[in-house]
Parts: sequence; structure tokens; C-alpha cells
Amino acid sequence: MLHRSRIHSHAYEDKEHRPLEGVLVAVKDNFCTTDLPTTCASKMLKEFISPFEASVVTRLKDAGAIIVGKTNMDEFGMGSANLFSAYGPVHHPLSMPSAANADDASIRVAGGSSGGSAAAVAAGLCHAAIGSDTGGSVRLPSAYCGIVGFKPSYGQCSRYGLVSYASSLDTVGILAQHVDDAQLLFEIVKGHDPRDASMAVATAGDDVPPQVESDLAGIVVGIPEEYYVDELSPEIVAAWQAAADHLQARGAEIRFVSCPHTRHALAAYYVIAPAEASSNLARYDGIRYGNTFDAYATTRQTGFGDEVQRRLLLGSFVLSESAYDDHFVRAQRVRRLVQQDFDRCFRIPRPRSSTTSSPATAVDVLLTPCNITTAPTVQEARRGGGGVSAYVNDVMTVPASLAGIPAISIPWTRSSTDDYPIGVQLMAQYGQDAMLLRVARALE
Ligand code: GLN
Repeated sequence: MLHRSRIHSHAYEDKEHRPLEGVLVAVKDNFCTTDLPTTCASKMLKEFISPFEASVVTRLKDAGAIIVGKTNMDEFGMGSANLFSAYGPVHHPLSMPSAANADDASIRVAGGSSGGSAAAVAAGLCHAAIGSDTGGSVRLPSAYCGIVGFKPSYGQCSRYGLVSYASSLDTVGILAQHVDDAQLLFEIVKGHDPRDASMAVATAGDDVPPQVESDLAGIVVGIPEEYYVDELSPEIVAAWQAAADHLQARGAEIRFVSCPHTRHALAAYYVIAPAEASSNLARYDGIRYGNTFDAYATTRQTGFGDEVQRRLLLGSFVLSESAYDDHFVRAQRVRRLVQQDFDRCFRIPRPRSSTTSSPATAVDVLLTPCNITTAPTVQEARRGGGGVSAYVNDVMTVPASLAGIPAISIPWTRSSTDDYPIGVQLMAQYGQDAMLLRVARALE
């Protein structure tokens, strides 16, 4: 575990009314800010200054946080290695270029798409950072960089002012050194906002008190066997096992469970996310945003990078009349089945759901790996980045996104071969964010 100072030891004493007084927070560049540009790391939005501020940014500032800057990201949130940015890649803080190792074969990526936020926290440039997690973009770079990455339940934090990628999946996420710190920021940014119509009406039945507990007696941890995929490196499997043993030693019961539709989740995600993106990004037409005023096709060919164009083509295709039933409708069905898999595992039912677990398999949280390998080098990530093979890096994280459930990546250990961090992921039923954080704390 990493031992670094916690936010409360940095914050000034007067925390009565401003709990984040003096706390330094970096914000991913897809959250609108009125005093700094919001570019989504895209040429399309270069120099764009939003006339309004994202709700989460306003809430952080009102709580006393100092926004230290906007962080690099994959363009519009599309990517897993933070290579697809108009500003260039984010390098992993443990392999910052020096004269001796300044090449793509030795420099590792920070992960994406919230790579700048993860690197900034891991390098100690700020106490915490805000990211967005559509399919894993907070959890994956956090796992690569050895920090905590928390994706709350969908609809708990306002998306107002978060530039849309795939609206039914986009979630505000928090990156920090410690679970307590992530929880502190979560308490500030969560809660109903009338300007985001997709928010949960009220925080759904989170019935476990969030206080620190050293003992996990009564908590049942599920190990979903379908997450044991060929792509997992052996040391990630070993870390997963060790984390399960640790939770057991702290009093939790371990149960093997099955989420049979997991293997289809990645394909469904890469149909649904591009489909929603093709609709959301239609607004960038050279007239409404930016200063180009070029013809529509020219604007989109020069303003969007290759990966965004690939996603928009894919998204437009799956929504086209001939492909809609076979691809889009089918992906939505898979999404529902993935959600039902989770509902059959969790002891607490999903609000308003009729699918329930059986007492023999009911669990409170699920424990899985978060990344299939440690952070790849820039060269390795580029090799995978030319096609869909790179999408496999999201295989551990997209199921929680499809189901809208809370998930957190916790730094667990470091690789014995390359000394880079390895994270594990915990997931819980929709609305059980505080219980998830409580169990996560036991892994620190
Ligand atoms: N890597 C996934 C994608 O490219 C997830 C991105 C995200 O969560 N923003 O869509």
C-alpha cells in the first residue's frame, strides 16, 4: 500500500463549513470551467471557453477546493491509454522521460481516458482529481498509476457541464491517494441537481453506515469466475487471489459466483458507447463550437482525431436502419442481461428491480482485477491502438458501467517483474456506494 499524506492533514483547520478549504483538485478537461478552456483534448474545441461551469466544479469550489488546472485526456474520453489526445500522450509518473530513457519503448502510459488526472494525483501535483468514467476511464488509469479511482453509481453526481460522450454511461469519477479522500470529495459532489435530468431522484437505499470498520464480519465477497480471462497476466491473477485472502482474513466470507454474460459486455459496450457518441458529437459542426466556420466535412475531418472518427463511423453504422436490430438492439439486450447477472449476485436488490439473488449466492461486493496487465509502454499501447484489440483493456471495467453500479479501483500491490502498480476492483449493487467504500478501505 502507498503511504502518503491524506487530504485532511493538508486542509486548513476551518473545515466547519468548507470541508475542502485549501485542497488542491485537478479537473479533467471535459468538465466545463468558465475561467479555463475546456477542450476535451480535441482540436475541435481548441480555445473553447464555456459560458457555464460544471456542477461538480462549482460544488468543489464552494467547499473550498482550489482548482489547480485541467488535465489531459483521451479526446472526448475515447481511449484507454491516453494516447488519443491532441496534446500528445500522458506519460506514467514512474517513467517520466529522462535523458536515459526518453523513448516510446521504455516510457509507460498513464492509462486513459482520465490519464492526466491519474498522473497528477500519483505524482503528488494535487490532492485529488475529478475524472469521468464511461467504461473504466477513472478506474483503469488509477490502477496503472497506483491510486484510488472511484466510479459512483450512475446518476449520483451531476453530469451538468460534463461534455457528453455516451450519456447513459457517463459518470463523474474521483481519483485520490486514499479511499477516505475519495469519499470526502464524493460527499461534496454527489446529490441531486435539477439541471441533470438523468440523476437518481434520491440516493437509493444505502443502508450500511460509512464509518471506518476494521472488521468485515458479515460482509460476503463474491469472486465472479467469468473475470478469469485468458488475457490476465499471472501476477494480476495472483494479486486478485491475495486481495481475496486479505478480505477473508479481515472477516469477510468469500464466495465464487457466476456472471455468465460478462463475456459479451465488451462487445455491447463498444456498440452502445459509439452509438451514443455519434449522436452527442453531431453538435460539433464547425458553427456552434470553436472558431473554424469551415464546411461540415472539413471541420470534422480536421477537428476530430482518428479514434474519434472511428467511433463516430462505428456509431453511425450501428444506428443505421440495416444494422440497428442486429447490433444496437442486441447490445441493449446484452446490457440488460449483464445488469441481471449482477442483480442475481447481490444480496441487496436493485431499486425497482424484480430480479433477486438466491441466499446461497448472495454477496455484498464483487472482487475482480481492474487491469489485465500493468501499464503498457507507449510503444505497446500504440501497437494495440490501431484497431479494436486495444479495447480488451476495458474488459474488467465495462460491465459495471453497463449496469450503472458503483465500482472502485484500489492500489493493491506492485509487480514483482516491473515494479509497476497493480490494482483490484470492487463493485457493489446500485446505490451501495458507502458500503463499497467501507469494504475498499479494508484493502488499503
Ligand atoms: N476506454 C473506454 C472507451 O474508450 C472507456 C472510456 C471512458 O470511460 N471514458 O470508450
